[in-house]
Amino acid sequence: MELNLCHLYPDILNLYGDRGNIIAMRRRLEARGVTVNISECSIGEPIDPSAFDIFFIGGGQDFEQEVLLRDLSTGKADAIRAAVEDEKVFLAICGGYQMLGQYYETWDGHRLDFIGAIDIHTVGAKDRMIGNYMFQTPPESGDTTVVGFENHSGKTFLGEGVRPLGKVLAGFGNNGEDGTEGARYKNVFATYSHGSLLPKNPVLCDFLLKTALIRKYGEIEPFIPLDDAIENAAHDYMQQRLTK
Ligand code: GLN
Repeated sequence: MELNLCHLYPDILNLYGDRGNIIAMRRRLEARGVTVNISECSIGEPIDPSAFDIFFIGGGQDFEQEVLLRDLSTGKADAIRAAVEDEKVFLAICGGYQMLGQYYETWDGHRLDFIGAIDIHTVGAKDRMIGNYMFQTPPESGDTTVVGFENHSGKTFLGEGVRPLGKVLAGFGNNGEDGTEGARYKNVFATYSHGSLLPKNPVLCDFLLKTALIRKYGEIEPFIPLDDAIENAAHDYMQQRLTK
């Protein structure tokens, strides 16, 4: 088996080591004998939505998000929407998550019209939502407790047909108001959780990878378990700190 990964805007959207998610996906797939091809796609480079199984988009500040608007309007937005509708797996973090939505109105009243691949919108607040946080995903998104780190001014609200990725157990999540975190639409997994999300949440990582393999190959053999002692120690330490 083989999976093709597309890392979108790796040079522009890459906060807090978001790239670690790509490394985790690659290692966990290769350990199961799956061949992994990784392509990077940035400004000026068109994407063929049919060529990839998994798309990864990292986080970025308001400035970087604005820089990308022009490039998205040259056909990339259409390609991304087509891949989403075709049930390709997406992992989108923070600024990349917001970018998949309808629009982002910054805290100082600047409106960025995004690509509308998923029905969510974001409105900036003056107070940033920062810190370690934790959420619980439902069975349709891996049924796991996810520990992460968030840093955003945008408050994201989900439209009809978009489910949350999880329920906030500690911290802010989408908006600090409705207890939701992230978004799930078709095979899009979007979250505010930065950096080393997948390395310290191996259950979620395997769930994403299985979703991509099943979409491509139909039923697959169960994954062989890996030695996740270090990953689980990182996860459990943070879970303990966040559990009051
Ligand atoms: N610019 C967005 C916000 O502050 C996203 C920031 C990020 O990706 N960390 O809401």
